[in-house]
Amino acid sequence: MSEMRIYNTLTRQMETLQPDEPGHVRLYTCGPTVYDFAHIGNFRTYVWEDLLRRTLKLLGMRVTQVMNITDVEDKIIQKMVSQELTLEQATEPFIEAFFADLDALFIERAEEYPRATDHIPEMIALAQELVAKGLTYESKGSLYYRISGFDSYGRLSNLDNRELKSGARVDSDEYEKDDARDFVLWKAAKLGEPSWESPFGPGRPGWHLECSAMAMKFLGQTFDLHTGGVDNIFPHHENEIAQSEGATGKPFVRYWMHAAHLLVESEKMAKSKGNFYKLRELLDRGHDARAVRLLLLSTHYRTPLNFTFSALERATGEVQRLDDLASRLEREADYEGRNEEFDGRMVQLKAEFEASLADDLNISGALGALFRLVREANVALDKKALPLDSRRGLQEALLWFDSVLGILERPADEPDEKIDDLVRRREEARAAKDFAEADRIRDELTANGIQLEDTPQGTIWKRMLSRGSDPD
Ligand code: AMP
Ligand code: ZN
Repeated sequence: MSEMRIYNTLTRQMETLQPDEPGHVRLYTCGPTVYDFAHIGNFRTYVWEDLLRRTLKLLGMRVTQVMNITDVEDKIIQKMVSQELTLEQATEPFIEAFFADLDALFIERAEEYPRATDHIPEMIALAQELVAKGLTYESKGSLYYRISGFDSYGRLSNLDNRELKSGARVDSDEYEKDDARDFVLWKAAKLGEPSWESPFGPGRPGWHLECSAMAMKFLGQTFDLHTGGVDNIFPHHENEIAQSEGATGKPFVRYWMHAAHLLVESEKMAKSKGNFYKLRELLDRGHDARAVRLLLLSTHYRTPLNFTFSALERATGEVQRLDDLASRLEREADYEGRNEEFDGRMVQLKAEFEASLADDLNISGALGALFRLVREANVALDKKALPLDSRRGLQEALLWFDSVLGILERPADEPDEKIDDLVRRREEARAAKDFAEADRIRDELTANGIQLEDTPQGTIWKRMLSRGSDPD
C-alpha cells in the first residue's frame, strides 16, 4: 500500500492522508439537490471525487464512500409548489437522471446514497443534542444554531467575522435570526409545504443538518475525509462542522478537500449567459461521454477548469488515440518474443503515473506518463518491434491505467462479429465487381461510426468517436 499526499483545506497544508483505520478511508461527498438535471460543473466535482476514490483504491486502500441525495430543500419545495407536484414527483425523475448520468460518465457507485427524507429522525435527534447543549434558540417556530456558542466557527473557511457576516447574509431568508451568521436547523412548516412532526414543532430540516446527520450515521462521529466544490466551504461545510462538533464534542472530519469550479469559455456558467450545460445536452448533441469525462478530469482539481468546445474536441482526439492503440494491439500480426527495453519503459511510466496521482492527484503528470507510453508503443509497432508478450503486457497496463481514468472503450452495442461479417461481405462484393453493393455496405458501416481502410493485407476497420456539434 502506498501513501497519498493531499491538500487539506482545514490546515491549508499538504499532508499525508492517514485514515483512522489503517488502509480504510471513510469518505463523505456532498451530493445533488434533486430539483433539476445536474450540470457539467457539478460533474466536474463528481468526476474528480471518482478520480480520488479510484486513486485511493489503486494505492491499495479500501474506500467507504457516502453521497447524500438532498431530496427536501428550498429549491425543491419552490418547484413542487409552483408546479403542484408531490415531493416525490418533484424529485424522483432527477434522482433517476442523476444515476443515469453517473453511469454515462463511468463514475463508480459510492457504497451508500442516503436520501434526506429517509433520515428525518436522525436529523431531529442531532438538533435535540444541540438544544441540550444550549447552542440553539427558537424563533417563530424555527430552530436556529447560535454561532456565538461555537468558538472555532470559521476555522475551515478562514474568514474573519466581518466576511462571515456578509457571506451569511446570502444565506439568510425570511426567517428571524438573532445574528446574521446564525443558520436554521429546523424550519417551521408553512401551509402547503411538506413537513414532519418534531419536538420543535412541525417543520423540515435545514440543508446543513441533513449532511451532518447522514455523514455521522454512516461514517461515525469522526471520520477521515469530506469533499465538495469550493462553494461548499462556506457556509455549508462550516455549518456541518459547527453542528457535528457542537453536538459530539469530537472532531468531525480530519481532512477536507475541495475542487475549484468549472467555467465555460472562461466565464461563470449561468442560464442568463446561454452557457449553462447539462451533461445530457452535450451527449444529445453527439459528444462522446468518455471525452467529456477526460476533459473534466484533465485539469488539476484545485485549478478552475475552463470548459470549451475546442478542449472537448482535443479530449475526443485523445480518447481516439487510446482506442486506436487498443485496436492496433488486437489486430497486430503475431510475432513471438519480448521487447525488454519497452517492457522496462512500461514499468517506469506506470510508476510515474501512480506517483503523480499519489501527489495530491497530479493528473497532468499521470496523463503525461500514459500518453508517452502510447506514443512509444506506436513507434515500436511501426517498427514491428512489439512482440506478442510485450503487447499482452501493454494491454494489461492499459487496463490498469484505466482502472483510475475510466476512459477506455467499453463493450459496444454492435458486436465486432457483426462488423467483421459486413466487412467480409463488402470484400466479396468488390471481388465480384458489384461496386454498388460494396459502397452500400461501406455507407452502412460509416453511418454506424465504423471507418474502413483498404490495405494490401485486406480491409481493416476502426470505430470512430462521435465528435458532436457545438452550440449554435
Ligand atoms: P449542488 O447540487 O448545487 O449542491 O452541487 C453539487 C456539487 O456540485 C457540490 O459539491 C458543488 O460544490 C458542486 N458544484 C456546483 N457548481 C459547480 C461548478 N460550477 N463547478 C464545479 N463544481 C460545482
Ligand atoms: Zn453536504
